Amino acid sequence: MATTLLISDLHLHPGTPEVTDGFLRWLEERACGCEALYILGDFFEAWIGDDLLDLAGADPSGQADLAARVAVALKRLAEDGTALYLMHGNRDFLLGERFAEETGATLLADPSVVELGGERVLLMHGDSLCTRDTAYQAFRAQARHPQWQAQILAMPVAERIALAAQLREQSGEANSGKAEEIMDVTPEEVVKVMADQGVTTLIHGHTHRPAVHRLEVNGRPARRLVLGDWQPGKGWEIRIDGDGEPQLREFALDE
Ligand code: MN
Repeated sequence: MATTLLISDLHLHPGTPEVTDGFLRWLEERACGCEALYILGDFFEAWIGDDLLDLAGADPSGQADLAARVAVALKRLAEDGTALYLMHGNRDFLLGERFAEETGATLLADPSVVELGGERVLLMHGDSLCTRDTAYQAFRAQARHPQWQAQILAMPVAERIALAAQLREQSGEANSGKAEEIMDVTPEEVVKVMADQGVTTLIHGHTHRPAVHRLEVNGRPARRLVLGDWQPGKGWEIRIDGDGEPQLREFALDE
């Protein structure tokens, strides 16, 4: 029976080696042999450009070594026959074609509709659904602009590493002052996007609020599955076996 796995928000970072090690184990134990693996964004805590891969062994921050290690593991999975799909998150939106090529992955647009478990399923990272966070949406519009990205990628690597650290700090500070509901998806936006795409199932991450929500879209029963973020000790996945229902599951990362 064909199995599809979906994960999101691993926020892989040299500062949390437990998560990286746990992910690499999970790849071998859970993902190996699967038909497809979808990674729905914020796979890496930061991504300064695919030329990070050239710095392996020479990057004191440890990000390049982490990226190289993960790339090798993904490539092995893809070579074993698992179709691998990567969607950008708000942290790793600079992940590019080179990383995809070196890992055997396909970059997936946000949003994308794919056939999973016998139905059309809408996949998103989820940040675009948080429309009440207007400050963030302004940054998102800028950061997704090809010209802005080209400007960033033209900067020397050391400057980009410093910029990523600065953005990360600013995001933490800005978010600590925001109301809980501003940080979550806007319910009306969810219904609108699902209706526009003609789906009754949406899977996304980003909010770090794992849950299965029931709702109605155009008078039809619908569901929104939210993947959780990975932390030292625990991870989250959605698994779809054959034409079965998507199952959201939390699991221990420690062996
Ligand atoms: Mn995110």
